[in-house]
Amino acid sequence: MHSMIDPFGRHISYLRISVTDRCDFRCVYCMAEDMTFLPKSDVLSLEEMDRLCSAFVEQGVSKLRLTGGEPLVRRNIMWLIERLGRHLDSGKLKELTLTTNGSQLSKYAHDLYKAGVRRLNVSLDTLDPDKFHSITRWGKLDKVMAGLEDAKSAGLQVKINAVALKGVNDTELHDMVAWCGREGFDLTFIEVMPMGEIGDEARLDQYWPLSMVRAELAKRWTLHESDYTTGGPARFSTVEETGQKIGFITPMTHNFCESCNRVRLTCTGTLYMCLGQEDAADLRQPLRASDDDDQLIAAIHEAISRKPKGHDFIIDRRRGAKSTVRHMSVTGG
Ligand code: SAM
Ligand code: SF4
Repeated sequence: MHSMIDPFGRHISYLRISVTDRCDFRCVYCMAEDMTFLPKSDVLSLEEMDRLCSAFVEQGVSKLRLTGGEPLVRRNIMWLIERLGRHLDSGKLKELTLTTNGSQLSKYAHDLYKAGVRRLNVSLDTLDPDKFHSITRWGKLDKVMAGLEDAKSAGLQVKINAVALKGVNDTELHDMVAWCGREGFDLTFIEVMPMGEIGDEARLDQYWPLSMVRAELAKRWTLHESDYTTGGPARFSTVEETGQKIGFITPMTHNFCESCNRVRLTCTGTLYMCLGQEDAADLRQPLRASDDDDQLIAAIHEAISRKPKGHDFIIDRRRGAKSTVRHMSVTGG
């Protein structure tokens, strides 16, 4: 069994792959309304994505997450998901999962379950249809809600990811906790990160540190620190009243790099070893250079040997929102 260990002794066992940079939403913290997307010819074919993911699985990746853009708007995406399912059958892959905005779940929930997907992260920041529309610009809440129902009935376990946005969903925290409790969904709050040029929205105005979210939650719920982990960067608390876990992902205020086990692949085959650093490796070239995987595998190991110790995000209040220039839809969050 192969494995990938970086210079800081971290086992790289988790690959997130953005299968498209396109999306049917235009969330204000993620995209500008008039995004220019990559030409199709730059984007890896689904066959190439299968080859790349499979090479990572052979090198010790046991968890694969498809993201985007919106993964479920990529044409024929079920072909890739079904193909990747063979690594679940072989036992090499422990988990195949997706992060989605939920807009296409009614169409795909049952097929996803059949392909071996058991858990989904669904991004949803508000339960209010008007706010939902103003955050996502193009999204319809009722469609996502119907998709969530279908995911449940297909047997998929759902975790809701909510970006904490000051002045937007700060009045809804308690409703979201209660709703997730009723629906049996886990819930994770994410701090807004400075990624990409996103238009006019004042990023500093949206920034709401999760320490404050936590303090707000504690007014209504009894939170107990928990050592529960999903292998990701979230820290969890248990809500005494509902028994539910709430996760907090705090890239801005906490160093979550020590236990980082992941790398991220864009839909053009660029591997980012850290979400907050520019250093990257082009895997498309070695992928296309030859039909066997030797060069590709060498390039993967070379990239892992460059994985940095940590990120350096900053929101600088004097200079405004200095950001990592990539959009989140490129690396998929
Ligand atoms: N379209 C899918 C979705 O929305 O779930 C997958 C891709 S999306 C880029 C992945 C996650 O990144 C979503 O949960 C989204 O809320 C989050 N995200 C996007 N931009 C962000 C930002 N600037 N700060 C924090 N989270 C962000
Ligand atoms: Fe699309 Fe997800 Fe970005 Fe929203 S967060 S615009 S749904 S990629």
